[in-house]
Amino acid sequence: MVRTYQHEPFTNFKDEKNQELFQEALSYVNTQLGKTYPLIINGERIETDEKTTSINPSNKKEVIGYVSLANQELAEKAMNAALEAFVDWKKWKAEDRANILFRAAAMLRRRKHEFSAYLVKEAGKPWNEADADTAEAIDFIEYYGRQMLELTKGQPVNSRPGEYNQYNYVPLGVGVIISPFNFPLAIMAGTAIAAIVTGNTILLKPADATPVVAAKFVELMEEAGLPKGVLNFIPGKGSIIGDYLVEHPKTRFVSFTGSREVGCRIYERAAKVQSGQIWLKRVIAEMGGKDTVLVDRDADLELAASSIVYSAFGFSGQKCSAGSRAVIHEDVYDEVVEKVVSLTKTLKVGNPESVDTYMGPVIHQASFDKIMKYIEIGRTEGDLLVGGEGDSSNGFFVQPTVFGNIHQDARLMKEEIFGPVVAVCKARDFDHMLEIANNTDYGLTGAVLSNTRANIERAREGFHVGNLYFNRGCTGAIVGYQPFGGFNMSGTDSKAGGPDYLLLHMQAKTTSEMF
Ligand code: NAP
Repeated sequence: MVRTYQHEPFTNFKDEKNQELFQEALSYVNTQLGKTYPLIINGERIETDEKTTSINPSNKKEVIGYVSLANQELAEKAMNAALEAFVDWKKWKAEDRANILFRAAAMLRRRKHEFSAYLVKEAGKPWNEADADTAEAIDFIEYYGRQMLELTKGQPVNSRPGEYNQYNYVPLGVGVIISPFNFPLAIMAGTAIAAIVTGNTILLKPADATPVVAAKFVELMEEAGLPKGVLNFIPGKGSIIGDYLVEHPKTRFVSFTGSREVGCRIYERAAKVQSGQIWLKRVIAEMGGKDTVLVDRDADLELAASSIVYSAFGFSGQKCSAGSRAVIHEDVYDEVVEKVVSLTKTLKVGNPESVDTYMGPVIHQASFDKIMKYIEIGRTEGDLLVGGEGDSSNGFFVQPTVFGNIHQDARLMKEEIFGPVVAVCKARDFDHMLEIANNTDYGLTGAVLSNTRANIERAREGFHVGNLYFNRGCTGAIVGYQPFGGFNMSGTDSKAGGPDYLLLHMQAKTTSEMF
C-alpha cells in the first residue's frame, strides 16, 4: 500500500553538513553549464538552429545552457506525436501511471540539491527558496500520484433494481502546458504531471528564462519510465508557438500559469472553435496577484512586521502570492512601519550562491526595468522609506523597497509589480482594511494579523481571495495542505495541490447497464 502523503521537509541550511552537500551540488552544476539542450518529441532529440540562451540573472555573462526552440512545424510534429501516444497512454491502468510518478519523486528526492542548484543558477533563487521549489515539485508528484489512485475508484451513484450505474473519469486528450519562470521546477512539473497521470499526453512549453531546469526534469521523467510521446518538450517563443498551439483544433486543454495579460489572451483564443475542432477547449489559467497583508490594532506587531517583510521580499517579490501591499490600522501604523523598515535593512541582497544571501536578483532586464519604473511611480505616490535602488550592470539586482503613506487607490496598490516593492497604506478601522483588501481586480492570497476573533471571522467570510492566512504571511502554500489558486483576475481558481485539481484534466462518463 502507498504510504500516506506527507509534504517534503525543507533542508536545514544551518546544519554545516547540509551546507557542504549544497555547495557540492552547486560545484557539480557549475561543471554542467553551457551545454545545449534539444527538443524532445516522441523521444527523439531534435536540435534546432534557433536557440534561446539561458543566463544566470546574478551574472549576465554566465550561460546556463543553450536550448533549442520549436517553430510551428515542430510544434505540429509534437502535436501529432502526442495524439498518437494518447491512443495507448489513456488505456494504461492508473496505478501503472502513478508508479512512474512515485519512481520519479524518489529520483528527484535523491537529486534534490542538484535540481535546487540549477534553480539558484538559472532563476537566481537563494538556497532556501530553491530548496522549497524542489520540495514542492516532489510534493506535486507524490500527491497527484495518490490522488489518481483515489480517482480510479470513481464516484458513487445510485442504481435502481435490475440496473447498474457507474460514474468514472476518463482523460481528455492532448494538453498544452505553459509554465512561468518563477517556480520553474514546481509549477512546470506540477502542471505537467497532473495532466499526464490522468491519462493525457502533453506538449510542455517552459518559460523562456528557465528552460534548462525544465529540460533536466524531462530527462528525469524519461529515466523514471515515462513512455515516448507522452511528454513532448517544446521550448519556444510564447508569441510564436504559444498562439499556434492554443488555437490548434486538436488541442483539448491548456494549462497555463503566468501573467494576467497572457492568461486572458489564451482564454480568449482558446474559446474560438476552429475548423475541424470537435470539442470546447478547457482552460486552466492561474494568473497574477496583488496580495495584501492586513494588520489589526491588537496584532502581534513583531509578527506583523516579519509577515509583511518576508511575504514581500521572498524570492525578490517574484511570487504570485507575494505580499506587495500592507494595510495597517492607524493606531499601530507608525510602530509597524518602523519595524518593517528596520527588518528590511537587515536583509542581505546579493549572489544567491552564497548561503547567507536572503534576496538574489530579479529574473531579467525587462523585469528589472519594469520594477524600476514602478519605483519611480512610487516616489510620486508616497514616501520612499527604504530601498529604491537597482543595479543591472552584472546581474539584475533591486534593493528591497518600502513605500509608506500610499493611498488605497494608487497604482502601487493596484498593479502587479512582481518585484521587491511593498506599498504600505493606513486604514481607519477594520471595515476600512477589508474594503482596501478587496479593491483590486485580483484575488489570490491575503493575510490577516489580528487577535480579535470577530475580525478574523469577518475576514474569513469577506476577504475575497483564494488563499487566506491568519497570523502568518501570505506566501508558502504547501501541496495537499493549502491548495492554491485565486479568484477574479487571479485565474480560474483551479487549486493546484488540492483534492479536485486532477478532475480538471478529465471528463466524467456515466455508464448504465440493465441486468
Ligand atoms: P508570462 O510572461 O505570462 O509567461 C508565462 C508563460 O506564458 C511563459 O511560458 C511564456 O513564454 C508564455 N507565453 C507568453 N506569451 C504567450 C502566448 N501568446 N501564448 C501562449 N503562451 C505565452 O509570466 P511570467 O513572467 O513567466 O510569470 C510571472 C507571472 O505569473 C506573474 O503574473 C505571476 O503572478 C504569475 N504566476 C501565477 C501563479 C498562480 O498560481 N496564480 C503562479 C506563478 C506565477 P515565454 O517565456 O517564451 O514568453
